[in-house]
Amino acid sequence: MKAPEFYNENERIAVVTTEPFARFLDYLAPEGGCEIGSFLILPLGKRQVMGVVWGSGEGKYDHAKLRNAISVIDTPPMSFAMRRFLEAVSDYTITPLNLVFRLCTRVPDLNKPPVIQKVFSLVANHSDFKKTPKRDLLVSALLKTNKNKLTPKEITSITGVSKAVITAAVHIGLLIEERIPRDRPYPKLVPDFKPNKLNPSQINACKVINDLQKRNGFSTILLQGVTGSGKTEVYLEAVAKALKTGKQVLVLLPEIALTSEFFQRVSSRFGANPAEWHSGVTLAERRRVWKMVAKGDAKLVIGARSALFLPFINLGLIIVDEEHDHSFKQEDGVIYNARDMAVLRSSLERSTVILSSATPSLESWVNAKNGKYSYAKIDKRYGQATLPRLSAVDLRRENLNSNEWISASLSRSITECLNNGEQSLLFLNRRGYSPITVCRACGDQISCDECDARMVEHRFINRLMCHQCGHTKAKPDKCPSCNVKGKLAIVGPGVERLAEEAQIKFPTASISVLSSDLHGSAKSLKDEIKKISEGKTDIIIGTQLVAKGHNFPKLRLVGVIDIDIGLQGSDLRAAERTYQLIRQVSGRAGRTDNRGIALLQTYQPEHPVVQAILRGDDDGFWQSEAKQRELASMPPFGKLVGIIISSSNFEKAMLLANQLKKNTKSLDMIGAKVYGPAPAPIARIKRRHRIRFLVKSPKTLGLQDAVRKWLATVLLKGDLRLSIDIDPQSFY
Ligand code: ADP
Ligand code: ZN
Repeated sequence: MKAPEFYNENERIAVVTTEPFARFLDYLAPEGGCEIGSFLILPLGKRQVMGVVWGSGEGKYDHAKLRNAISVIDTPPMSFAMRRFLEAVSDYTITPLNLVFRLCTRVPDLNKPPVIQKVFSLVANHSDFKKTPKRDLLVSALLKTNKNKLTPKEITSITGVSKAVITAAVHIGLLIEERIPRDRPYPKLVPDFKPNKLNPSQINACKVINDLQKRNGFSTILLQGVTGSGKTEVYLEAVAKALKTGKQVLVLLPEIALTSEFFQRVSSRFGANPAEWHSGVTLAERRRVWKMVAKGDAKLVIGARSALFLPFINLGLIIVDEEHDHSFKQEDGVIYNARDMAVLRSSLERSTVILSSATPSLESWVNAKNGKYSYAKIDKRYGQATLPRLSAVDLRRENLNSNEWISASLSRSITECLNNGEQSLLFLNRRGYSPITVCRACGDQISCDECDARMVEHRFINRLMCHQCGHTKAKPDKCPSCNVKGKLAIVGPGVERLAEEAQIKFPTASISVLSSDLHGSAKSLKDEIKKISEGKTDIIIGTQLVAKGHNFPKLRLVGVIDIDIGLQGSDLRAAERTYQLIRQVSGRAGRTDNRGIALLQTYQPEHPVVQAILRGDDDGFWQSEAKQRELASMPPFGKLVGIIISSSNFEKAMLLANQLKKNTKSLDMIGAKVYGPAPAPIARIKRRHRIRFLVKSPKTLGLQDAVRKWLATVLLKGDLRLSIDIDPQSFY
């Protein structure tokens, strides 16, 4: 039955709510009626919850027992495409629609009336006012910002003047006070405000994209080019084109909370700031973003993966920058990959999506090769900059002491950079001081009490920490297993220990350590990154955090401490991941005139992945990876689904797993194979035992249905949990 567009008061409606109940709840339309897609406040027991009208009520329930919705929230109805998108995500990830719906309502007080806010702006004739030191400070700081209306809080944080100075400035007429709604439209972006002149390679890439944009239908484009080739510049042109036609645009960035540089770039390109969406944004600002996106008064949103669930009404373009990045995968709650869901959303919006990367995921590379995605490539670095010279340091010949990780060859290059006033970066993807604490009496390694994982020593907080659950404990003086004293020893380095070695070897150098746990807040980490960009540090020591899009103009040398770490283990994506990470990290070097150097320390320089990185032969690498995956029918040539059963009770979890093992009929029918059950590689996290299945299917069609049927053959009792990971990225 076709649903009407409007429901009069007391008509039956089917609603999706934020509560994890059945798919739809029936209500009666509120006073004044509502539309399909309307956001409603609903009575649920004694509480009030939010919901969206999905269609007509089924008529199964007694009309007299149904309750009326309380009110319609003052915001435009959710679009048809958005509702289909939530359904499609729910189907694809095998997650109840309610839980998916929650992803787009994570914003407070949507139903509260607009808050009015005091803002101040500078009068036009400010130079006529008598000068005092404080007024000078105020005026010069306000002239420098690109916002013309600021809150008292913003003014004090920018200028450092007190509230009293602001009040006095208002009193004499230097500042104009206004009261405006907190949820106000974002300033207009000007598509042609200040475009850069593109080089021929960039123009070609733009042309491919623009031709597809003009078609006004769905298309996915892989935009590939080495770091520094000017991909951002190219996709900002696509943003300009979309803005010109009045469409909304979403740019998804990994680690967005750390990138103020990007916002500056966008605002100087389009003459105003875009909306910003990530966990570091205040709740009040998030509410504004949500409301304005829903009304079409935010045209450009720069966001983290969750921005994909904002209620755009006219989304013409999505950009997924660094599309290969693993932070686009949400690993708990609703398990989804924002890159894939961006493609899904674009297909439903009939719009364009650009996946941009220097080192695309194998999935996207294969899709581009076989023509499923369009392909735009930029050949070389922008301007004079060239790619760094890569070479391996064969650690078998370096005679390193057992507590040293910086080889003599690497040291020489660092010294050279120090002498030239250039920066060096030492990359080691291990947080903390040392990854292993072992007892030399009994051989036991100190592990977490809650998880089957080793405790990592962190000197900065002076404790041992579990990287699975975050649990910490004091470093014991005797072995917890054999009680022998004084025999505990640490094995291997983390970034903190490497920093210690660097400081000893280069005593006069100033060193920054970039690791997510060493900075109390995103702001302090941002400040540290800024300090590095400004060239105030000589040696940077960092985890994978440094691989992400930062621009460090003075960086000349990248030293990879141990390229072998990522290649160990049997992870399906070990090679791909190492390749991407090392290419990204080494791409940080030599972004300006002086040619960069990358030194890769390894015990296996002949390893094919190491060789491929050294040759810089991207296509060759992907071709051989693709071939191996195809032979093994692994993604993207086959589909995987990861299932984890967890419980505080191992036997109960295993019992459920064995039941499932017997009921695989629906999977057998589509030719899918079930591997497991087996204890997961990390067999216990936070005291919960974990048992894994891996489903491998030759085809996509019908896979979710078959998995759903399979899992419906068992009942989850007590604290048993089942988590479903479609297209798993990690296998722990
Ligand atoms: P990518 O996104 O591929 O890493 P960017 O777009 O960040 O590359 O470009 C690298 C550098 O070159 C940036 O500093 C950028 O400002 C500059 N750049 C790229 N293209 C142009 C252009 N057409 N005109 C001026 N500067 C450019
Ligand atoms: Zn733990």
